[in-house]
Amino acid sequence: MTQTKTAIVGGGILGMTLALRLAQAGQRVTLFEAGPHVGGLADAWQLGDVTWDRHYHVTLLSDIHWRRVLAELHLEQDMQWVETKTGFFTDGQLTSMSNTLEFLKFPPLGLLDKLRLGGTIFYASKLRDGKRLESIPVASWLRKLSGKRAFEKIWLPLLRAKLGENYRHTSAAFIWATIARMYAARRTGLKKEMFGYLPGGYARILEHFETLLHANGVDVRVNHALQRVEPFNPNANGVGASVNVANVTNESAHAVGVGVKQVQLSFRDRPAETFDRVVLTTPAPVISRVCPDLTEDEHRRLNGLRYQGIVCASLLLKKPLAKFYVTNITDDWVPFTAVIEMTTLVDPAEFGGRSLVYLPKYVSPDDPLFEVSDDELRASFIAALKKMYPDFSESDVEAFRVSRVRHVVALTTLNYSDNLPPMQTSLPGVFAINSAHIVNGTLNVNETVKLAEDAVKELLLPNLAGLGTSTHKPEETQPLILANER
Ligand SMILES: Cc1cc2nc3c(=O)[nH]c(=O)nc-3n(C[C@H](O)[C@H](O)[C@H](O)COP(=O)(O)OP(=O)(O)OC[C@H]3O[C@@H](n4cnc5c(N)ncnc54)[C@H](O)[C@@H]3O)c2cc1C
Repeated sequence: MTQTKTAIVGGGILGMTLALRLAQAGQRVTLFEAGPHVGGLADAWQLGDVTWDRHYHVTLLSDIHWRRVLAELHLEQDMQWVETKTGFFTDGQLTSMSNTLEFLKFPPLGLLDKLRLGGTIFYASKLRDGKRLESIPVASWLRKLSGKRAFEKIWLPLLRAKLGENYRHTSAAFIWATIARMYAARRTGLKKEMFGYLPGGYARILEHFETLLHANGVDVRVNHALQRVEPFNPNANGVGASVNVANVTNESAHAVGVGVKQVQLSFRDRPAETFDRVVLTTPAPVISRVCPDLTEDEHRRLNGLRYQGIVCASLLLKKPLAKFYVTNITDDWVPFTAVIEMTTLVDPAEFGGRSLVYLPKYVSPDDPLFEVSDDELRASFIAALKKMYPDFSESDVEAFRVSRVRHVVALTTLNYSDNLPPMQTSLPGVFAINSAHIVNGTLNVNETVKLAEDAVKELLLPNLAGLGTSTHKPEETQPLILANER
């Protein structure tokens, strides 16, 4: 029996998981990544003299799909689980909001506001399905449940910080999914939500993951930027030929009679290659660009997704800023969305005793912030930190580096799932599966692995349900209890 020759495009966690599962099922898999290494948004980089994640990453105890992959990589037993604290920077004050008592003391709200705010979170955590919320604007839903004051003082600044003015187009399913993720551990029977990290960070995870891909026969090709995908008929005129499907209807392109048997991939500065099928995992605008032969409706759906990008600074500091893993910011003069102090979670010994801080700013892909130089960003971010933390001084900064990504996540806009592009495209053998297909969830590695494993079982290898993934079966109600869980 000949093996199906599959190309996966995009070497992020989604592409890596798809490649692994298909190879475990006996397919011949090639994984193409445009960048110089795999990992995508979860990759690691050099900050001063340390190597750590380019974007802050934690794993939750309830991230069962991802933890099963970590177990397969023989890394799960090394995970460190830590209880962290959350802060709020509101009206120029830094306040802890890490437990119920602190919440009840939270200064900017009256008791009734707090009760309604707490009630909103509790109610959202109990809802099982976000579909119904997709038609309700997030602002109307939160204002109705929490009241005007809690909405204006807490929710609106948080929505603006995370979504910019795009909050106006976002549905209530967004906030529901965010709250559901934070409550997932409790749903699965675990008492506390703890954050986990692996000593060595994602650099170590990705190294093990790539080794496992090689061991399963996956051909990993970095520095391969896909430029075009087109149907290809190996039998036309005795030699292979690209098929122009512009004049062929969807139905007829799918029909065997057209003779389209393979898919041709063209890369920048590389020879073209053919495969039995290809799975594209890149952001939707890239899929639309590299597949000009898709139907008008498919292009409309792909380009209709509203993406959020990020400008995220990493700072290595001589001393800590505060005790909070996340500090949410509701004051709009602060030029970043939140402060993530990684070393409240990760042992500072990983960084030679120094503190690692991320300052993210979520923005639209066309935001002018993408054009601002590192020096300008550094000046404005450090000026804000000085105002927020009186003990902080510029001389504390040992290293500063900025990551810019224009397409991070597709926003859950109104009636989102009705307008999603199909995973199986109109082009024979061409699949387009990316993080936009995470419906009813937030963007995270666990959901990404689940998406890949579900796609393999339900779409790519439906006849082999359970194959290669039997030990990775989603078990929402059964927490993965491993040796070092406290
Ligand atoms: C700031 C930030 C914080 C996060 N925090 C967490 C967290 O705490 N916990 C958590 O679980 N998750 C977190 N995430 C989410 C997590 O990183 C993502 O869910 C996951 O990495 C998405 O993987 P992906 O493969 O879908 O996409 P990507 O990682 O975007 O992979 C897509 C890949 O496609 C490649 N590509 C693009 N165009 C082409 C082309 N033409 N040819 C070939 N290759 C191409 C890209 O280079 C990229 O490597 C965070 C993300 C960000 C940005």
